[in-house]
Amino acid sequence: MTDSWQAHLLTLFPDMFPGPLGVSLAGRALQKGIWSLDAKNLRDFASDKHRSVDDAPAGGGPGMVMRADIVAAGIDDARARLHDAPVIYLTPRGAPLTQARVHELANGAGAILLCGRFEGVDERVIEARDIEEISIGDYVLAGGEIAAMVLLEAIVRLLPGVMGSAQSGLDESFEGGLLEYPLYTRPQDFEGRAIPDVLTSGDHGKVSAWRRAEAEIATRLRRPDLWAAYKARGTREE
Ligand code: SAM
Repeated sequence: MTDSWQAHLLTLFPDMFPGPLGVSLAGRALQKGIWSLDAKNLRDFASDKHRSVDDAPAGGGPGMVMRADIVAAGIDDARARLHDAPVIYLTPRGAPLTQARVHELANGAGAILLCGRFEGVDERVIEARDIEEISIGDYVLAGGEIAAMVLLEAIVRLLPGVMGSAQSGLDESFEGGLLEYPLYTRPQDFEGRAIPDVLTSGDHGKVSAWRRAEAEIATRLRRPDLWAAYKARGTREE
């Protein structure tokens, strides 16, 4: 029994972990035991002497497909150690990752993350093990490991005790449905560009109003999709 948030990785490249998650915020949190990482090699679940995990796609075509039986054995092994946690396959075919889903995952006990390689994973194991599919964006990576790291970094920074100040998460992009307002710090003059006067006025009410207005402008101009959702939410709440 552990209080750590548990990340169980199923991958052909366990040596890639913790990788960048071993430094900075996530690395310190890993050392402190706020979260734990267990990366298993899917080849350990293969039974032939070549430890093969893939085979040619049914119906023909390029590349190879990860076998359902081997992936299922890896998932069953991870589930025996981590019950009641979602199994997530990182795939471009998945639902786009959102900050809302990151919060839900951070509030749970952990996750079992399946990293694909080759052309992907046999569909039958996705159905049979009730696997959630998540995409980190509309582009194709060579494997799911870096996508899993993206998801893990987003989760770990939300775990209690990881971020320096509890406040630092609240105003951030996506938290209230808006992008963040623009940021400034010293020097006061940078190549003829000054910090907006309101930010040095000492008037907290004006600073808040300015930040809200700037967050709304940035969201409207840069992310019409988020802006529409934000406006719709406001209308429903009125
Ligand atoms: N044939 C797949 C397709 O067209 O959807 C792409 C396979 S990709 C070369 C190999 C693996 O990289 C995938 O199984 C998945 O685990 C991972 N991957 C690639 N792009 C990703 C993305 N945008 N989000 C999450 N995982 C991704």
